[in-house]
Amino acid sequence: METVRFDELELAPQILRGIQEMGFEEATPIQAQAIPVVMSGVDVIGQAQTGTGKTAAFGIPVLHKVDPSSKKTQVLILSPTRELAIQVADELRKLSKYMHGVRVLPVYGGQDISRQIKALKGGVQVIIGTPGRLMDHLRRKTIRPDHVNTIVLDEADEMLNMGFREDIETVLEYLPGEHQTVLFSATMPKPILEITRKYQHDAVNIKVVKKELTVKNIDQYYYDVKRKDKTEVLTRLLEMYNPKLSLVFCNTKRMVDELSSELTTRGYSAEGLHGDMKQAQRDRVMKNFRSGKTDILIATDVAARGIDVDDVEAVFNYDLPQDDEYYVHRIGRTGRAGRTGKAFTFIKGKEVYKLKDIQRYCKTKILAQPIPSSDDVAQIRTEKIMNQIENIIEEEDLRDMIDLIERQVNESDYTAMDIAAAFLKQALGQAEGAGSAEEGDSYDFDNTGAEEGMVRLFINIGKKQRVKPGDILGAIAGESGMPGKLVGAIDMFDKYTFVEVPREYGREVLEGMKNVKIKGKSVNIEPANQK
Ligand code: ADP
Ligand code: MG
Repeated sequence: METVRFDELELAPQILRGIQEMGFEEATPIQAQAIPVVMSGVDVIGQAQTGTGKTAAFGIPVLHKVDPSSKKTQVLILSPTRELAIQVADELRKLSKYMHGVRVLPVYGGQDISRQIKALKGGVQVIIGTPGRLMDHLRRKTIRPDHVNTIVLDEADEMLNMGFREDIETVLEYLPGEHQTVLFSATMPKPILEITRKYQHDAVNIKVVKKELTVKNIDQYYYDVKRKDKTEVLTRLLEMYNPKLSLVFCNTKRMVDELSSELTTRGYSAEGLHGDMKQAQRDRVMKNFRSGKTDILIATDVAARGIDVDDVEAVFNYDLPQDDEYYVHRIGRTGRAGRTGKAFTFIKGKEVYKLKDIQRYCKTKILAQPIPSSDDVAQIRTEKIMNQIENIIEEEDLRDMIDLIERQVNESDYTAMDIAAAFLKQALGQAEGAGSAEEGDSYDFDNTGAEEGMVRLFINIGKKQRVKPGDILGAIAGESGMPGKLVGAIDMFDKYTFVEVPREYGREVLEGMKNVKIKGKSVNIEPANQK
């Protein structure tokens, strides 16, 4: 799905101005494909779903062909209903707002024909009409077909459904030999193909059908999360559900970079993907993700276009998508091939209204969920481990292991229950990552006198050693992998320094700084002790 700007389509500046004023930013896929082809003058069969901008897809190139200096009728557009004819006329008027001398008129049944005849008298180059009424005008010669060079059958399937086939053919028979015939429709039933065969020559087929993006097999949840807590909640959900592959969406390239470095720092195998990266780099990231070498891919919507990986078990909307359709595209990456996927969306406060729109758009339910506590995480992990254990008991040969445990039970005071419990604790501890208390030193972060959420660290180096705050900051950022901007207050004294870092990074900073030299001097760093 490549995006095309209207200014890439070689349109006249007056039309571009009209388009701009309508607020269209980029061409829809059917517009991007159809505009150049229709403009080239050949016959076209265009198919795209309702609401994809088919009107402008033929309207723009057709207007481009109109000669404003001639008052003769040059374009006929057939439309199934009065409402649609008026709608198309409105859109073409807006598009041609800056094309001086171009007149656009809808004609339809049910409106007093003499009024229409009066309106036609001044010379109208573009006429949009229901088939019956157009036929009527052609018969009365109140519309003359001699200079018509383009005819458009819009919403052709609708027109046939309404029984206009004969009227359409009658109108087509009125036209002079040389003209371009363009047909647009959401669907292409057989009778349409018969018409195209009869009335078009070497027509070019343009078909844009959206891949059916289903949200059926996807459990969807949302969490009301403060901005600063998003990463923490994300990691808890990752721990809880332990998805094989996860896709995390952010709205900006910067956020992608930030989050991938945050997750990597926390020991996850994550990589970012965005438009600023070189193609080779992107290919490498995708290859790693596809092969499972990285389990978490963090991407922007644009970069994620075309990603087609089957084993994505969870999609996270770290940022709420800016467009309802993006939501479907994003979460459609999971729940493939009959599997069940999960989609988690983070919102903050008022964004819940946008979520309502999304639910209406996708005809789906997104359920509110409380933010999981660390107890919830442990419980889910336990269940998961127990399930695995059950499988092992049922399916594997455990005789040697049972012998070993038996010996342990006989030689010690422990029961088999004690040993099983210890194994479970170990399994859970590992699952909670390197930061668990079983590994390395334990630190007291509760009495450092730091502000809420931070820890205050003591470093035995200060102004006397001609150390500057920047040196401390640099050392911390460089050694621990924690982004330097997360470093809080730095208080320097003659012989020592206090520095605050977010609590969740406390351990990493302490471990990382163990063998660091600042200004050539080995330093000792430990949690400050308020008491
Ligand atoms: P279709 O005929 O395919 O059902 P329409 O031509 O009626 O779709 O367009 C549907 C809506 O999308 C209209 O409100 C139209 O103004 C708008 N639209 C068309 N093209 C664009 C575009 N490139 N960007 C934004 N909105 C567009
Ligand atoms: Mg339409």
